[in-house]
Amino acid sequence: MKVDLHCHSYYSDGKHSPEFLIESAIVNGVSHLAITDHDCVDAFSELNKNRDEITILNGVEISCDWLGLEVHIVGLLIDTENASLGSLLRNQQSERRSRIEAMDKKLKALGVDDLLPWMEKQKCVAMTRSHVADFLVEKGLSKNRQKAFKRYLAKRGKIYVAANWCSLQSTVQSIHGAGGIAVLAHPGRYPLSKGKLKSLVEEFAGFGGDAIETSYSNIDPLVRNRLSDLAEEHQLYASVGSDFHDEAATWTRLGKYPEPDQQSKKNAIWLHPKWHFE
Ligand code: AMP
Ligand code: MN
Ligand code: MN
Ligand code: MN
Repeated sequence: MKVDLHCHSYYSDGKHSPEFLIESAIVNGVSHLAITDHDCVDAFSELNKNRDEITILNGVEISCDWLGLEVHIVGLLIDTENASLGSLLRNQQSERRSRIEAMDKKLKALGVDDLLPWMEKQKCVAMTRSHVADFLVEKGLSKNRQKAFKRYLAKRGKIYVAANWCSLQSTVQSIHGAGGIAVLAHPGRYPLSKGKLKSLVEEFAGFGGDAIETSYSNIDPLVRNRLSDLAEEHQLYASVGSDFHDEAATWTRLGKYPEPDQQSKKNAIWLHPKWHFE
């Protein structure tokens, strides 16, 4: 068994089709793959999930607000047709569109036109800052995505606009309402002190959250161990995923992340009661 429970297709800010992700995961020996696009589930609408070589799990990654901080919650094994989750996702998509429109205004003030028509040509359902980064690179304003984030899109960037995300609690509720498992994504990537991270995990568990990611691309081994301890402490399951977006980013590959430690293996997410396939 080799799972990858976090990756993105071109329906959000990934570069590839869902079919490509699946083929590539099979080549890498992945047995269970969840596609978890930002705030949309369109990858599943025309996907043939009946395959012999691999099990495909429904998934989503929802951006939400916790005390003014943006955190990401992965929903696994959700019913993608669930009406109330659908309405939450449509809201998020419309917040994303408004945010991009506000960024377009800021760009125009800097003398850069055409972001919106460029956006319309993309395949995404959920518009992200990664798209704006690609636009800035295409326009020759930045050398690469990283630099575009640093100069323009990060919190202190020239065209940064805060988003108005749904709350952490409503996100967990909505994932549960759709029959899914709620997973706190990449907890080591938030700008939080050890104490604050502990409070986040505590509140997430208090809201009924099920699991936290304890290994993902490029995680520091010390952070991995700390997350594994946090999961154990709060009786949460341990999930793993590459957070793969793009074949050109050679530091991420489907199915690739540091080996989880023994404690995380003991708390593995596939032991969750909802983890079953017909
Ligand atoms: P958004 O959800 O629109 O705020 O876009 C966030 C996405 O941008 C994340 O999911 C990452 O894939 C990507 N991202 C965030 N920060 C950076 C960064 N510093 N460099 C490159 N990509 C980033
Ligand atoms: Mn992303
Ligand atoms: Mn994320
Ligand atoms: Mn992600």
